[in-house]
Amino acid sequence: MQITTGKGINQLRLNERIEQLSRIGRIGETGVCRLALTPEDMDGIIQVRLWMEEAGLATRIDPFGNLIGRLEGTDPTLPILMIGSHIDSQPYGGRYDGAIGVLGALEVVQCLMENGIQPSMPIEVIAFCDEEGSRFNKGLFGSRGMTGQLEEGELERQDKNGVTRCEALQAFGCSVEKFAEGVYATGSIGSYLELHIEQGPVLESLDAPVGLVTGISGPLWLTVTIKGMAGHAGSVPMAMRHDALAGSARVIAAFDDMVRADPDAPTVGTVGSLRVFPDSRNIIPEEVSFTVDLRDMEMERRNQLEARLMNVLDEICSQHGLTYSLTEDTNSEPRYCAERIQAAIRSSAEEMGLPLPELMSGPFHDALALSHVCEYGMIFVRSKDGISHHPSEYSSPEDIALGTEVLYRTIRQMCSRLPADIESSD
Ligand SMILES: [Zn+2]
Repeated sequence: MQITTGKGINQLRLNERIEQLSRIGRIGETGVCRLALTPEDMDGIIQVRLWMEEAGLATRIDPFGNLIGRLEGTDPTLPILMIGSHIDSQPYGGRYDGAIGVLGALEVVQCLMENGIQPSMPIEVIAFCDEEGSRFNKGLFGSRGMTGQLEEGELERQDKNGVTRCEALQAFGCSVEKFAEGVYATGSIGSYLELHIEQGPVLESLDAPVGLVTGISGPLWLTVTIKGMAGHAGSVPMAMRHDALAGSARVIAAFDDMVRADPDAPTVGTVGSLRVFPDSRNIIPEEVSFTVDLRDMEMERRNQLEARLMNVLDEICSQHGLTYSLTEDTNSEPRYCAERIQAAIRSSAEEMGLPLPELMSGPFHDALALSHVCEYGMIFVRSKDGISHHPSEYSSPEDIALGTEVLYRTIRQMCSRLPADIESSD
């Protein structure tokens, strides 16, 4: 297989920047802790801003804490082509999550400029504030903020030390009074592209360095509470028990089986948290709550599975003399990547002789927020052993360079054509 990168991105510069950024907030040998709106996050933003300015971009930090570097187009009235990701991390995170998307985007735009390409539309490179949601327990803050999707009470959310998001933003130099000015007008963003590590094992299993994302799957989050009756573990005969944990275990196992039933479907289902009351070794469990996370690219299939889960709950609870209640915590629909951006990514990879498997994204990304205001596309880079949100997270410099080169060629295609041309080539 001959993969050609031609006169494209500067792999050395890109990798040096990734390495340098990863030393800010470094924990241990390879870990990173840059929680949103902390001094480490600010140090990262200052560094990336310097690189943006070095490249010739006009930079600003918006009221939501997003760092934006802008390259003007020949036609300032055209909608913005936005490229980015985030540089905040999990508390015990890795070097690549988010970082490659921001530094990759910067490399792409710097390369355009070095090759004398001036886009028709303005291009903005963005490092979104608080994608991870680790500190205030709610993510995609910057990307939801600038697209007008914040919810009530977001500024009052507190971190572990009682610092509110509002206080953290102010300490970061952001004026929350200016939120309204920071929201992009409807239609002002034309498209959004994001390069990200896969954070899963699919590309590695296919022996592919880069993949095309077809969409971000829609998660359904439920909390199920099953109620039985407590009793002494030594005295209540088995036939007379209403054991909420034994019932829950059967429901959870049945759920796992039903999600696995179609091995070709991308459906994933997880019960990740369980609470047992009274949680004592010699008391029959009276009440159990557990979470359900169900994701799929097809709403119909996801809805069918949800209905089957309800049947299983009915059946198992009635067999064991239990009752149950449900709350729906999140219910978002899958968001599909724009066909024409997917086509541009495909043809870029083809030019390079690079195989390009297609996959869905299970995790959220800033692209999810942007998908509500513009068309979007995503490129994944292979993750070693599928590990992410952990210091051992790894993507090779060669794979990252290939992903960035695909992004570069895609952006070059998109920005050298007027929107009218693109429309007519659909
Ligand atoms: Zn990320």
